[in-house]
Amino acid sequence: MSDLPIRPYTRLPAAFHPWDPRTVEIAAVVSRLIASACPGVEVDHVGSSAVPGLPGKNVVDLGIEADPAEIPGLTDALLSLGFQRQAGLAPFPPTRPLLLGVVDHDGTPFRIHLHVMPPARHELAELRGFRDALRTDAALRDAYTAAKQRIVDEAPDGEANLLYTVRKSDFVQDTLYARGIRPGPADAPTPLAPGATIGILGGGQLGRMLGFAAREMGFRVKALDPDPHCPTAAVADEIVVGAYDDALAAVRLGAMADVVTYELEHVGIEAAAAALEVAPLRPGLAALRATQDRLAERRAIRDLGEWAAPWREVRGVAEARAAADALGYPARLKVPLGGYDGRSQVRIAAPDEVTDAVARLGGTEARPLLLEREIDFEAELSVVCARDRDGRTLSFPISRNVHDEGVLIESVAPAPIHPLVAADAVEIADSLARGLDLVGLLTVELFQLRGGGLMINELAPRVHNSGHWTIEGAVTSQFDQHVRAIAGLPLGSVKPHATAAMVNLLGTGHDRPARLSGLDRALEDPDVHVHVYDKQRVFERRKMGHVTVVGRDADEALDRARRAREALTWEE
Ligand code: ADP
Ligand code: MG
Repeated sequence: MSDLPIRPYTRLPAAFHPWDPRTVEIAAVVSRLIASACPGVEVDHVGSSAVPGLPGKNVVDLGIEADPAEIPGLTDALLSLGFQRQAGLAPFPPTRPLLLGVVDHDGTPFRIHLHVMPPARHELAELRGFRDALRTDAALRDAYTAAKQRIVDEAPDGEANLLYTVRKSDFVQDTLYARGIRPGPADAPTPLAPGATIGILGGGQLGRMLGFAAREMGFRVKALDPDPHCPTAAVADEIVVGAYDDALAAVRLGAMADVVTYELEHVGIEAAAAALEVAPLRPGLAALRATQDRLAERRAIRDLGEWAAPWREVRGVAEARAAADALGYPARLKVPLGGYDGRSQVRIAAPDEVTDAVARLGGTEARPLLLEREIDFEAELSVVCARDRDGRTLSFPISRNVHDEGVLIESVAPAPIHPLVAADAVEIADSLARGLDLVGLLTVELFQLRGGGLMINELAPRVHNSGHWTIEGAVTSQFDQHVRAIAGLPLGSVKPHATAAMVNLLGTGHDRPARLSGLDRALEDPDVHVHVYDKQRVFERRKMGHVTVVGRDADEALDRARRAREALTWEE
């Protein structure tokens, strides 16, 4: 077996085999082959075939850790050994690829799954930890065998193979936490009791809806906002009036609160850090730091082995031009700090638009911008994922979102996507929530690519517009879930009632006092729920409210929500 040809991968049914000792031998030979082709690379045999006595699919799982910058070159070297990139609906991204191959031994084909992972994910350590627990604990081995057998027995014909990995992940996760292989948050909250105060940095509609949820459980609410008549004022015991970067105001808020959270990423880091001096801050300061600056966000995504549109940090016109030429047109140029709802970004369709775009966003040598490739996506999706005090994560069903010039206008959930794509999205959100070590909600905006696969667009460590459907559409709302998580309480069920559609109610026309008409007509459909944020003034494209319908299917719910929205107009 000295010169093992790695040959093309073939899918086999999820048939369950007794453990085959030959897999260990094959793992050793393939590992040596890889090590000789890629000097310095260490290969670990992980997965079920690495556990003597454990039945499985006889796939030889191998794991390699490599720095993000080295992964493309390493992948090329592995491809030249005969490995192939995984294809299909939900492939691993090239930033943490899964490479596939087959090795023949005694006339039997053995499939190799080679996982390449950056160290910051701590994934290899978990794979090793799980393997070692199974090796040493016969009871765990028996329980895992039984769980796997159940999945294979219960799966409908043809689906066993597809969903096998997804379905057994609950067992794996439980074991990782129970055995301390996967640690909980560094700073876990102690549960708050009703009567405790939740401080919110920001007093917009998200704070308002968080406030409703907090009130429901008997918590008190205070918020910081420059405007004493902000949308959150209606549900707050007090608005601390101050700018989002006013550290003294943030300390005043923190001093009155048992926990402080934020409803927007654009609160100043110094203000958030100041609040943290006097009260716990959740989802966390590191999560805020990693997501409020688009450049920091891209770095965090890369370090954790996740995938975003190809990007560059650019200082001035010349760098922007070179980057756009290298990455390709159309490109998107974005201000790192403070953009939202599509503001502070410009689309660059051709080279002659670069100079103007950089000028419009105020990019200079001293003020870097983010330039990234425009992605031709199939759809936009988002996952709202909660991480609790123990470190466990739970994601709401995926939303499929439509934006218009950067502003979210419609969401439906659960998104009409293949369960494997949904599982992939959840996996991405889960690893980011753990990677950022947050407690509370993390929303991950994704591009679903035309050829399959998911790419990250943006992260928000907070409740999100695309999760508003959960108020009527799920057992627990995203607001309730966030309050539970930051208050150190158990998470609620994310089960959807049916399919929900949410459409945003945007402002129209010039800046004027906000008066909405047509509510009576909108509510003629008894399944329509209208949310109005009580903003004092309305102007073109301002988020003023939203409409939710829980219906039979996405099309029907959307149709009815749109009709209700059409009945609603802003008076002149
Ligand atoms: P914001 O903070 O304003 O939400 P995003 O980066 O999410 O900023 O951009 C808003 C919307 O613009 C996205 O939801 C998407 O529709 C579009 N968009 C942004 N960047 C890209 C990109 N690189 N490729 C394609 N569409 C993009
Ligand atoms: Mg966005």
